[in-house]
Order: sequence, then C-alpha cells, then structure tokens
Amino acid sequence: MDRKIYILLGAPGAGKGTLAAAISQEVGLAHIASGDLFREALSKGTRLGLEAKKYMDKGELVPDEITIKMILERIARPDCDTGLLLDGFPRTLEQAKALDEALSKNGESVTKSLYINVSDEEVVRRLGGRWICRGCQTPYHEINMPPKVKGVCDACGGELYQRDDDTVATVRSRLDVYTKQTKPLIDYYDKIGKLGKINGEGQAEEVAERLLAVVK
Ligand code: ADP
Ligand code: ZN
Repeated sequence: MDRKIYILLGAPGAGKGTLAAAISQEVGLAHIASGDLFREALSKGTRLGLEAKKYMDKGELVPDEITIKMILERIARPDCDTGLLLDGFPRTLEQAKALDEALSKNGESVTKSLYINVSDEEVVRRLGGRWICRGCQTPYHEINMPPKVKGVCDACGGELYQRDDDTVATVRSRLDVYTKQTKPLIDYYDKIGKLGKINGEGQAEEVAERLLAVVK
C-alpha cells in the first residue's frame, strides 16, 4: 500500500485533536485518535474500555500491549487506505518500534512525525478549561475557543462535557508521563530524519495552516 502515514506528537493540550479534526478531511487522511478509541470502548462497556479506564483516570498510560493491538487493528481497516493521521499514538518508544515493525511487514513506513510545540505554561492553561462534545468529540476551551452557545457543540449540537482526567491532579500526572515516556520520541524520529516541528502557539487556525503547509 502506498499511503501517507503522519504522526502528531506533542504534550497533552498541545492541540493535536483539534488540529487533526481540522485538517484530516481536507488532506484525505483518516484521523485515528488512541484516546478516542479508548473512550469509545468505555462508552460501549467493552473489556478493553473498562481495562483502559483504570489507567486513564489516573493519567497513566494504558499498557503498550493493549494499545498496540488496538491501533494495529484499527489502521488495517479500509477507511485508512487513503492515509493516516495518528493522534496520541505512539506515546512510548515501545509503541513507536511496534508501529515501525508492523508497517515494514507491509512495505510501509512512517511518512513524518509532526511535533506540535507548545510551552508548559500554555499547556496547563489550556487543559484547565477544556470541554469536549459527546457527539463528535470536538474539543472547546472556555477561553481560547468557546462554543457559540455555552455547553453546546457548534458542529453537531451535541452536549459538551469535561473529561474525568482533565482535573488538576491528573493533568499534572499526564504531563509527567508525557515528559518521561513520550518526549523521547521526538529524538527517535529526529534521528531517522522524520521529524517536522510546528509552532503550536497562537490562533487555532494559524496553527492548522502551519500544519497544512507541511502535510499537503
Ligand atoms: P490527551 O490529548 O490529553 O493526551 P488522549 O485522549 O490522547 O489525551 O488520551 C487520554 C488517555 O488515554 C491517556 O492519558 C492514556 O491513559 C490513554 N492513552 C491514549 N493514547 C495512549 C497510548 N498511545 N498509549 C497508552 N495510553 C494511551
Ligand atoms: Zn459535536
């Protein structure tokens, strides 16, 4: 298969989900978000979902084995034939290596890993006021990106909610996990010449334009 495979890297709150949702259709890539897959599994009450919840609620990573299996199954589905925008995966070196290995069995490889760079202070500020649509998962922010009507999704009219793991204590532990386990991936992709850097600060549309310029 000759499909483009992009990875979005960045801290929680860097805007990966918003960006991916904003550009995936325009560039014809399937937006695959590991966190959304876990939350979907949980809302359906599957074993995978219940298992993942134990870790998510604490801001910890779901074990690699479970996560890798879920993603590899997902990206093999036909809606991914046109290309991929991976959001939230890989998040550990183990996951990155498993992805490379699985792709190379198909004669494929990662096209580019795109690092959305946002300062620590900005990340904390953003995660604090985050609201997400129950219907279509679109994220909003009380200050940076409020919906037109409070509590209601602009895109689909769905109800907005705050994630259990968007509390102060969990945000801190998610940032910690990011620094220890995910940040090393920046180096990993840089060393193999596959890292792109994008300034993630400023207006959402500006950042999306910067990302589009790289992906198009
Ligand atoms: P955020 O955008 O805040 O980083 P996500 O929606 O991507 O949040 O992920 C929420 C939670 O789901 C993570 O804190 C983690 O528990 C779990 N999770 C998501 N992706 C992965 C992954 N690739 N590996 C392990 N756990 C993951
Ligand atoms: Zn919605």
